[in-house]
Amino acid sequence: MARVYNFSAGPSMLPESVLQRAREELLDWHATGMSIMEMSHRGKDFVAIAEKSEADLRELLAIPKNYKVLFLQGGATGQFAAVPMNLLRGKSKASYVNTGLWSEKAISEAKLYCSVDIAASSKDGGFTTIPPRADWRLDPEAAYLHYTSNETIGGVEFQDVPDSAGLLLACDMSSDILSRPLDVSRFGLIYAGAQKNIGPAGITVVIVREDLIGQPLPGTPSIFDYKKQADNGSMLNTPPTYNWYLLGLVLEWLKDQGGLTVVEARNVRKADKLYAAIDASGYYSNPIDPACRSRMNVPFRLANADLEKTFLTEAKTAGLVNLEGHRSVGGFRASIYNAMPEEGVDALIEFMREFERNHG
Ligand code: PMP
Repeated sequence: MARVYNFSAGPSMLPESVLQRAREELLDWHATGMSIMEMSHRGKDFVAIAEKSEADLRELLAIPKNYKVLFLQGGATGQFAAVPMNLLRGKSKASYVNTGLWSEKAISEAKLYCSVDIAASSKDGGFTTIPPRADWRLDPEAAYLHYTSNETIGGVEFQDVPDSAGLLLACDMSSDILSRPLDVSRFGLIYAGAQKNIGPAGITVVIVREDLIGQPLPGTPSIFDYKKQADNGSMLNTPPTYNWYLLGLVLEWLKDQGGLTVVEARNVRKADKLYAAIDASGYYSNPIDPACRSRMNVPFRLANADLEKTFLTEAKTAGLVNLEGHRSVGGFRASIYNAMPEEGVDALIEFMREFERNHG
């Protein structure tokens, strides 16, 4: 069976070698006579897998020792609630930067737990840019400042960690974590659902500075209490063991690639050539301010929207699938996370040129 180039925004493509290895190990993991799915999470085999995945993540992101790494359930959406529950620490206000639909979801969930101050917003411009840092209004009373490093739907990405003027920085990195090296020490907390750059859906990574945990909002469910999870090795209850194992295989794959500097260089090449192809043609367009275009999610439109269905049908025939834009914005979106090979992007560009020749 031929594999396609899958441009889905998430769950998204996984490295083929990871899937092959999972297949080889499916029925009999390391001569145990059983699948990972059938093992106790408390047994030494699974505990070794969990420990290795944490060590590999620490190595890839150079996570300082004073940070805890948690592997949780509930997705990034669960973290929209868990972040205020754990980080308010007696305060009643948090600041959020609003750069798109995922920021907005984080904001509405946080409002269930505290008053939310909008430090900056690009909503008026249709979320096509990031408000200049000089225009942000930071409230020193806020418990933390939250932002979304990559807006998966809008295709807007921070190219640097913003200066938080001493406020604790919390970031939703669901769709660009591990796509480039990162200075974790700039953050109080980072979280990311796995299903774009770290593995399959169903497991969520949280990286949190250890001095911040242990003062949860009264009523915080135990599974969302970072301290309780940290004290229990993220095994307060049964974790999603198979997803955790697959996440570990993706981290090993990233190390085999040469680490995040190498991965970043490839991501830059992929994104640069796709944007260049869009910009070079009057037939395709991308509305995002070039200074904050996402390397991971590239939304684009056709000059003639009537041909959208034809584009998708012909792309599918060419082995290029899941290019439709998010239902809230329409058009197209090519998600080109770490696991999308450069050849996939080349094939898309070639297809776009040919489509323009035939229909433009
Ligand atoms: N934040 C961002 C930036 C996302 O892209 C997504 C999922 N597409 C989420 C949060 C929500 O993630 P989950 O479905 O894991 O709750």
